[in-house]
Amino acid sequence: MQIQKKVVLLRTDKITTMPSYWNPWYGCIKHSEGCKHCYVYRQDEMYGSGKRANQVTKNADFDLPIRRKRDKTYKLRSGQLIYTCMTSDFFVEQADQWRSEAWEMIRLRKDLRFFIFTKRIDRFRVNLPDDWGNGYDNVMIGCTVENQILADYRLSIFNELPIKHKVIIIAPMLEKMDISAYLDDEIREVATSGESGTEARILDYEWILDIRRQCIEKDIPFCFHQTGAKLLKDGKLYRIHRYHQISQANKASINYKLRRDFERDLKTEEICSQLKFF
Ligand code: SF4
Repeated sequence: MQIQKKVVLLRTDKITTMPSYWNPWYGCIKHSEGCKHCYVYRQDEMYGSGKRANQVTKNADFDLPIRRKRDKTYKLRSGQLIYTCMTSDFFVEQADQWRSEAWEMIRLRKDLRFFIFTKRIDRFRVNLPDDWGNGYDNVMIGCTVENQILADYRLSIFNELPIKHKVIIIAPMLEKMDISAYLDDEIREVATSGESGTEARILDYEWILDIRRQCIEKDIPFCFHQTGAKLLKDGKLYRIHRYHQISQANKASINYKLRRDFERDLKTEEICSQLKFF
């Protein structure tokens, strides 16, 4: 999954800000079935970044949230949505030594909104700040699942965690799934996606429609944000170029109950449009 930093303007209150990215560390250890064609590894192979995807290293941008310009103002402008740790997993074991410091920067920058996805929700409490309480207002956590077994395992943990802004991300969706038992009032959105890349596994459109039905029954916002490279629809397999995977999902027009989200003037649809990572 290639990270495309396409600029989409987001309105927050009276100012207009662009989302930004903060990657405090790079590299990750493959962890579950959804990691098979991990974008970090694919990027490493394609572009040879000089770093090894299977080695977790601290990035030069580690302190980006608190970095200042010459005029002493922060480099990351107040109100920005910050996609956090997109070149790793925020909760990967190998980053335990740095996570407390990362949390401290998140705590200090209450004026930013941090969006963190993870396949390791079972490690959420490792290095959690003492003052976390019921969650920081400025942090949204996306629990990523890819099949039924992992949905049952991870979402049952996710449901019990004190997090103010929760999103379920089904990506890459690898099979038909029933997540209805986990769709409580705390879930702000369910986002679904296929898999990108030449080795992508097939996404059956019926699986997407079934998740949508589950969301509608519980009145939870739903987003189909990306088709992936191979989409099975009405018995026909479509191969979809990377460039069109988001627009084709949008064309399906099956998103449900888009709403203003994350305490600001940010629509779920706009969050969806930014998720290009699977
Ligand atoms: S958890 Fe995410 S970043 Fe880590 S190997 Fe899996 S897909 Fe890649």
